[in-house]
Amino acid sequence: AGSRSSASNLPKHSYISIFNFFDKLEMGLIQFDTTINEYLFMVQATGIHIKDNVKNIGVQVLEQVVRGGYNINGTDYAYDFNLSESDVPPTTYLPDSFTYLSSQICPERLPSMKGRLEVNMSEMALEDVERFLLNAEPTMTLGGYWKPRDCVPRWKVAILVPFRNRHEHLPILLRHLIPALQRQRLQFAFYVVEQVGSEPFNRAMLFNVGFREAMRDLDWDCMVFHDVDHMLENDRNYYGCGDMPRHFAVKLNKYSYMLPYNEFFGGVSGLTVEQFTKINGFPNAFWGWGGEDDDLWNRVQYANYTVSRPQGELGRYMSIPHHHRGEVQFLGRYTLLRRSKERQSLDGLNNLQYSPLLSRRPLYTNISVSLSRKLAPIADYN
Ligand code: UDP
Ligand code: MN
Repeated sequence: AGSRSSASNLPKHSYISIFNFFDKLEMGLIQFDTTINEYLFMVQATGIHIKDNVKNIGVQVLEQVVRGGYNINGTDYAYDFNLSESDVPPTTYLPDSFTYLSSQICPERLPSMKGRLEVNMSEMALEDVERFLLNAEPTMTLGGYWKPRDCVPRWKVAILVPFRNRHEHLPILLRHLIPALQRQRLQFAFYVVEQVGSEPFNRAMLFNVGFREAMRDLDWDCMVFHDVDHMLENDRNYYGCGDMPRHFAVKLNKYSYMLPYNEFFGGVSGLTVEQFTKINGFPNAFWGWGGEDDDLWNRVQYANYTVSRPQGELGRYMSIPHHHRGEVQFLGRYTLLRRSKERQSLDGLNNLQYSPLLSRRPLYTNISVSLSRKLAPIADYN
């Protein structure tokens, strides 16, 4: 890892000017309405070639592209704007007639995993989803625990969902994902980590809390970090972990099914307990929208891991359209991202304090937690 071509294939002056641009943005010297043109300018200035079809994707992708310019060592500019699906691996899934023994580890490519899924994004009451899913699989127990009975699960997966005020999204996710995980024959449970209090949303710190609480609950071996609004489109996108940290949400409909930049690690990702512990978890210092996923990418690189991703069609996701009402961008993210390496051992699982409130629901465990900056002190910085 880290041996890919570096930022040296960019003209040096434009690389520096991106930094100046964000410094100015952080200092409030650039107003927001000039920002979009600045993005366009900077993207052109860095010499990144963007195909015509990318113009339609909008500001968010440009944001992602520019954020890609902030990455640590190993930054390559092999932006994958390739829409071709010709890289789909040959289907080597087991035939419908295949039978396996209940004493054996569940296969990874089961006949029950059919491929392309319908995504139903219509809203539904949580109680109706509970009734529907428990009726289909009565072996689910309070808290949404499930494991296969016809084989030994390959992975024990805790699904962690960061949450605040997205009550209409959660039933859609559970209704869609739970049957898919059952077809994948994984042992799993959902932990919805809900931020209370008035601080800006902190997705990363919620994941750290979720990890600690899930591990107190059961000896999970795989953690899936899952946005509430991401729906996988293919049930062959297997939610087990691997030798390397995994990025599942590769091709999002909101980014025209293209990876926005090579270092993108957002939406849905998965690490073994060992991997997550080794990188000291997520950073706790990202308050508001953006950057925490890039910092996790950096941590993974510094630990000498290489992120693995599903091939082709398998990594497609639809995300539920929503607004960012009252949510703030985290403008300090670029400053923190430049210090990813030195902060990794100071800020993460090892400096985190909190007092959670747990309650069991039929399909998940709810972890309510009030977050504030003083819960993750960093000696050298305070
Ligand atoms: N989230 C939430 N409430 C918020 C902000 C974020 O529950 O107010 C959670 C939710 O799981 C969401 C994820 O954090 O899917 C990522 O945030 P968001 O959807 O705002 O990011 P974006 O869609 O812009 O990538
Ligand atoms: Mn979203």
